[in-house]
Amino acid sequence: MASDDKSLDNTAAGEAGRDFIRDIVAADLGSGKVGTVVTRFPPEPNGYLHMGHAKSICLNFGVAAEFGGRCHLRFDDTNPVKEEQEYIDAIQRDVHWLGFDWGQHLYYASDYFEQLYAWAEDLIRAGKAYVDDQTPEEMRIARGTLTEPGKNSPFRDRSVEENLDLFRRMRAGEFPNGARVLRAKIDMASGNINLRDPVMYRILHAHHPRTGTAWKIYPSYDYAHGQSDAIEHITHSVCTLEFEDHRPLYDWFIANLKVPSTPHQYEFARLNLTYAVLSKRVLTMLVRDKHVSGWDDPRMPTLAGLRRRGVPPAALRDFVKRIGVAKANSTVDLGMFEFSIREVLNKTAQRRMAVLKPLKVVIENYREGQVDELDAVNHPDDPAAGTRKIKFGRELFIEQDDFMENPPKKFFRLSPGMEVRLRYAYFITCKEVVKDAAGNIVELRCTYDPATRGGNAPDGRKVKATIHWVSATDSVPAEVRLYNPLFVKPDPTGGEGFEKDLNPNSLEVLSNARLEPSLAEMNIADAIQFERNGYFCRDKDSSPGKPVFNRTVGLRDTFAKEVGK
Ligand code: ATP
Ligand code: MG
Repeated sequence: MASDDKSLDNTAAGEAGRDFIRDIVAADLGSGKVGTVVTRFPPEPNGYLHMGHAKSICLNFGVAAEFGGRCHLRFDDTNPVKEEQEYIDAIQRDVHWLGFDWGQHLYYASDYFEQLYAWAEDLIRAGKAYVDDQTPEEMRIARGTLTEPGKNSPFRDRSVEENLDLFRRMRAGEFPNGARVLRAKIDMASGNINLRDPVMYRILHAHHPRTGTAWKIYPSYDYAHGQSDAIEHITHSVCTLEFEDHRPLYDWFIANLKVPSTPHQYEFARLNLTYAVLSKRVLTMLVRDKHVSGWDDPRMPTLAGLRRRGVPPAALRDFVKRIGVAKANSTVDLGMFEFSIREVLNKTAQRRMAVLKPLKVVIENYREGQVDELDAVNHPDDPAAGTRKIKFGRELFIEQDDFMENPPKKFFRLSPGMEVRLRYAYFITCKEVVKDAAGNIVELRCTYDPATRGGNAPDGRKVKATIHWVSATDSVPAEVRLYNPLFVKPDPTGGEGFEKDLNPNSLEVLSNARLEPSLAEMNIADAIQFERNGYFCRDKDSSPGKPVFNRTVGLRDTFAKEVGK
């Protein structure tokens, strides 16, 4: 039961799909502008990876693999206040899980701190950077707006000597946080606000996960990013659209520094998904404020959450391939992701029977203590998966939903007097409904037809429904967790105030489910189909006496309906 068969990747619609990034790479290789394509995935280790990152990972590692190049994993660890070793470890685990490998090419922006610092001094010496003493508020006001130019800082024309002296003392830790910054000296009147003397270094007295307390100043993202790419000889620096306006600054640094290579930045549209928020900031708050049980809560759009929910990595790769890579922002329907999950699991997951909301059935004409072993098929499309024995007995469980005392016209499952097929077993007919004092149905008295063993009547008589079941004595109790989207709205608030869009019914716990015994021994996260109920996997919260199962996804696209209810 390989849940991660890479050959599945080739069945996805659109094949490996060409997109504008791949076109650019192909052209650059064809013209000889680039010898070997080198990309990178540059996460900031300030949270767990989510589905948006999966898109970027598949693109960067995918392009490198398809064009015979390599892809680096580089931690963009320039903000020690929010970064942690836990995240560094989780990110590596998740990239591997998704099916990609950086080989020897694991890097950290912090490895380049010394070089970045040296280049900053070069800019100062060239009169292209200066130390600014304005307060953050003064700087903000002087920056101007989209329609008004900014104003030069009163500290903009400091001498090279004074700038060098102050910058060195910033590094030495002489000044408190926020007292001064180093800025690139570009153009306060530029139409592009990113070019209005952007900050290159800020003072931060903070412990860094890798460099400890060695540094009192840290480079900004804009300053560190392109130069890190240049140091690693990245040829195609692929990022999301919000950095398009940063490209002129990226190019300015590359043009004004003695960097060892000249990478180019290309921007693609980020992944947005209905009923989900793909923002580490919001995901961090969900975890911190305990709206979820952790980063790997199966409702989270994190790779750790999806893995725990039972989503195979091949499904994520298939999804990313289907949505493609474009230049215009759009939002993808969550139903599309579920489609990819079903596509993969339908092929890989074996079938079992489990009753989620049990209703007891007593077969009156079946002898007490008698047991019958019946053959059940493990996978309808894969004979090699074989069959298994399941035990039939006098007392069984069926789903509460498969019985109605007063059925409407089109209800063909069990009801008083009605005959149905029990999957792999016999035809049964409901004779009597037993209720408790409060009027709740607690048991059905039925009869079975021994001649229908295996599920067919020798007289050719038909039934309109086949329902699943488990033996009462030969099944194990379990907790089953059903998940609904974390947000009630297709376009939830992606920042402050997201709480009001949270779905109060995102988790439904069924604590009296009954499973075929073999299910209790499954490996955690191995996919299985509970016939008629969906795809499931065993959760790490399982204990020896009580397995816990997660529903990965239902069998059909009931998505729109579920959310609407
Ligand atoms: P978030 O927006 O969730 O805070 P981020 O962009 O700050 O994420 P990074 O760690 O900087 O997180 O992201 C690493 C890489 O993943 C970047 O190149 C970024 O462009 C890409 N990325 C992040 N979110 C998405 C997304 N939704 N779709 C595609 N790529 C994304
Ligand atoms: Mg970022």
